[in-house]
Amino acid sequence: MGNYYHEGTIIWHNGRYVKAAEALIDLYSQSMHYGYSVFEGIRSYRTEAGYTRIFKAREHYERLYSSAKALNLPYHWSVDELIEATYEVLAVNDLQDAYIRPIVYAPANMTFALNEESFIAIKAWGMAPFLGEKLLRVMTSSFQRPNPKGFHILAKASGHYVNSILASQEAKAAGFDEALLTDGNGMVAEGPGANVFFEKNGRLFTPAPGNILTGITRATVLEICAKAGIPTEEKVATIEELKTADAAFFCGTAAEVVGWSHFDDYAFPLPWSESISHQIQKAYKALVTESKLTEKIMNKSYISTPA
Ligand code: PMP
Repeated sequence: MGNYYHEGTIIWHNGRYVKAAEALIDLYSQSMHYGYSVFEGIRSYRTEAGYTRIFKAREHYERLYSSAKALNLPYHWSVDELIEATYEVLAVNDLQDAYIRPIVYAPANMTFALNEESFIAIKAWGMAPFLGEKLLRVMTSSFQRPNPKGFHILAKASGHYVNSILASQEAKAAGFDEALLTDGNGMVAEGPGANVFFEKNGRLFTPAPGNILTGITRATVLEICAKAGIPTEEKVATIEELKTADAAFFCGTAAEVVGWSHFDDYAFPLPWSESISHQIQKAYKALVTESKLTEKIMNKSYISTPA
């Protein structure tokens, strides 16, 4: 069970609230054997007004749907139904600051053929906001991201994460905190579970779409920059170029915004506290716990983009 669930934990499983410890999955599935399933990583926060809000719930559940479609997984749940079930899972487990993992997976079928049904589970566990001052030492991975011609890389498919696990484990074994993977052309792509930004001369750069999962947090960072008048550019960047940056950070739902101290043997010269990146980190923290968005949730509009 680890830190994820205990005897009393409740999950939403195919429309029913059941105990996590008693939920069953099929071992004879393409999901188990081939990584053929799709999932989401979502966060909820206790807002400054005390309510619980799932950050960008609609965007996450829309991505779950498009991930399932990309993999030809049958899908018959509405975004609203899943958001409501998620709020209920949080409430029954007494969670406010939490990490939420929905997964859509396949029934028993050991062939490569289409399935006639899919299953779904929504799990949640406590996760305190991080957004700390800890800076990461990041290593250029020997692993490249999956080939966009071999996978639907915009889908958050479970099987893609074998690549992430390999890269992250390699970086940790080499004494780093995390990996930075390149694309098939050797250009800067992303982390195992986060997008990358770098800062140079007051501008922010992030890899252009094409070889990355264009994350919801990446979009949020771009929105924050647009609002604050910080110039941004999506560009194809080399590893060497990243090593001329003033500062850099990873961003993702789980990672939030987390700065880098080093990239391989390169130390970023700008103190984190003086960087624009740090301002963005603070703006992101304020946004996820801001309460004025909550009223819209209470009105059932579920709008969760920055107002
Ligand atoms: N890239 C990869 C490979 C990821 O797994 C994630 C996490 N979903 C991200 C980027 C960041 O995406 P998001 O901001 O939507 O969490």
